[in-house]
Amino acid sequence: MPEGDTIHRAAAAMRTALVGRTVTRFEAARLVGPSPRIGAAVERVSAHGKHLEIAFDDGIILHTHMRMTGSWHLYRPGEKWRKRRHQARAIIETAEWIAVAFNAPIVETWREFDQNRHPRSGRLGPDLCDPASDLHECAARLFHYDRGETTIAEALLDQRVMSGVGNVYRCEVLWACGIHPWAPVGNVPQSACLDLVVTAANMLRANLGSTARVTAPEVPGGLAVYGRNGQKCARCGDVVKLAKMGEMARLLYWCPGCQTGCEPYPVRDVTDPLARTIDPHPAGSRWVGDVLRNRDAS
Ligand SMILES: [Zn+2]
Repeated sequence: MPEGDTIHRAAAAMRTALVGRTVTRFEAARLVGPSPRIGAAVERVSAHGKHLEIAFDDGIILHTHMRMTGSWHLYRPGEKWRKRRHQARAIIETAEWIAVAFNAPIVETWREFDQNRHPRSGRLGPDLCDPASDLHECAARLFHYDRGETTIAEALLDQRVMSGVGNVYRCEVLWACGIHPWAPVGNVPQSACLDLVVTAANMLRANLGSTARVTAPEVPGGLAVYGRNGQKCARCGDVVKLAKMGEMARLLYWCPGCQTGCEPYPVRDVTDPLARTIDPHPAGSRWVGDVLRNRDAS
């Protein structure tokens, strides 16, 4: 069964082989949707969880999902395939490489401008209120969020990740999980993503039948932080704060005392010229450190 990292490796290989190349043949017998035209160039190959997307410069996007059985192979022209021809669900041929999707249960295309209306890859995440929704899928969408620098508080509202979480629930969920609202989503581990999603689903489902919204029954009023700025946090006793966040400047209530999980790196002192050159990410600082050391040595 291909895991996300397998798909990411496949996507990396496909990217190297295909991006910028001209399509000389495209075949997909059971394709749902329009075909990219011959002569179109491959513009982008990306993986999200087990989804793989190939974008062509004529605006067509090919989406495959591997489920348990599918895999992408790359062959040189004339090279013998490792699986049978009838198992091929999509074939993209360029002068240098042939990419073949074998046994992929989902092979579909759509035009890029339709993307937001597409039911599956159109990015509306599973509905948390529906008990049949796959919460692991939501957690995966959060974990593989395409812009890792986005704050977790903003990513939680993104309906492409999951539907159902509004402003009240995102504040309450972040408090319940003890996560810092400004944590970049790229720094939030998979376990915390799942915790956030499961907590959100439990809160939403518990409130389906009632008009009074209760997410923290132990707190008078039923909400832990939402609307409680200036009051004492029920968990740590610190003062609940209110901030405006994101493009929409939506109100964010949170407790700085106990929402410290995945806390973002401290803001750099931009007046210090050395600090300005050092990337806040540990790997980045290490790299800059190496550069400085090598420069000093020479
Ligand atoms: Zn607190």
